[in-house]
Amino acid sequence: MPRTVLVINSGSSSIKYQLIDPVAGTPLANGVVERIGESDGVINHSDTHGNVEETTNIADHDDGLRLAFDMFSRDGGSLSDWNIVAVGHRVVHGGTVFSQPTIITDDVVRTVEKLSTLAPLHNPPNLLGIEVARRMLPDVPHVAVFDTAFFHTLPQAAKTYAIDSAVAEKHGIQRYGFHGTSHEYVSRRAAEFLGKPYDSINQIVLHLGNGASASAVQAGQAVDTTMGLTPLEGLVMGTRSGDIDPGALLHLLRVGGYSVDELDQLLNRQSGLKGLSGVNDFRALSELISQGDEQAKLTYDVYIHRLRKYVGAYMLEMGGVDVITFTAGVGENAPQVRADALAGLERLGIAVDSAANAERVKGPRMISTPDSAVAVLVVPTNEELAIALAAWDMV
Ligand code: ADP
Repeated sequence: MPRTVLVINSGSSSIKYQLIDPVAGTPLANGVVERIGESDGVINHSDTHGNVEETTNIADHDDGLRLAFDMFSRDGGSLSDWNIVAVGHRVVHGGTVFSQPTIITDDVVRTVEKLSTLAPLHNPPNLLGIEVARRMLPDVPHVAVFDTAFFHTLPQAAKTYAIDSAVAEKHGIQRYGFHGTSHEYVSRRAAEFLGKPYDSINQIVLHLGNGASASAVQAGQAVDTTMGLTPLEGLVMGTRSGDIDPGALLHLLRVGGYSVDELDQLLNRQSGLKGLSGVNDFRALSELISQGDEQAKLTYDVYIHRLRKYVGAYMLEMGGVDVITFTAGVGENAPQVRADALAGLERLGIAVDSAANAERVKGPRMISTPDSAVAVLVVPTNEELAIALAAWDMV
């Protein structure tokens, strides 16, 4: 067995994990524990011995992770057979404190705990995963990899909201950005693919999944991104609104009779594609459009409009762009979105090749025409591998 890194992404009611060979860059096992806290919790686990699914009472994260670890020894072997040399943990919010992957100590845990006020839905379950995994694997280093870290380099002008600066300071209100692990991984792969030094090109990365965000990466440094204090700002997402006039929220509070929790629910769970069309999945939206559903078509148009707006903004901010890269579920699999996002931009040096765009190929690929001044790429993201490599680098 080669040396391996276990990657853990611990959410409020689920834990996703992957065991990765960081040298080969391949997964050896993966699984997901769902419905934690319920009597009909489920674990689905795959490794070199096959796939198992089991429904059982999973009281808490402790139970969930123990169940996952048991899977690795279910055929009479033991966990140590898997040669785990590090554990990489996805942590959503690193605030202004963490700009790099960080070896987890008790101090780090306390700091991440303090940052929970900025990410109350994410950091506490991330910490639960860390606590349990540290207890179960006490002899290997645990590394926290922060979703916000890549955006640590945003210039003040990009990260500052124009509100009373004393209020912003007191409450930590600024742009932090999220999906950073993906934006960094994809922008580095894009530079490699083009055979250009990372710090020699200007990039726009469009991470379009259920959550969606865009970033501007100038000479190897993130200079802007669409997500802000929280992952709610920016692009239209599966169930999240993205940009909205903050005055609309005041209006809903004052006139609409909404409570804060109802507003949270509306913006995070009942908006975006779902709010506009009734479905949050892009494939379902495409299906509705093909049936002639006009509201679905409007939803699509709003989605594309927002995307184009940011592509334009980031081109101007950086004084030009060398490469635009699509990634994540929609970005990697929806050629129509890629075509519409960049349609009619030949005057700006951007020309998508429709044949190349329509091809279904795995792996990084170029979809711009040979004479397009701006390279347009599709680069599959792999946040688990990026976390594994970050943890591996630390050992
Ligand atoms: P997450 O943010 O949950 O990681 P993903 O990156 O997996 O999300 O992206 C999920 C989105 O990708 C969904 O809206 C899904 O419909 C969309 N998607 C996946 N495959 C396709 C496809 N072949 N065509 C269009 N959309 C797709």
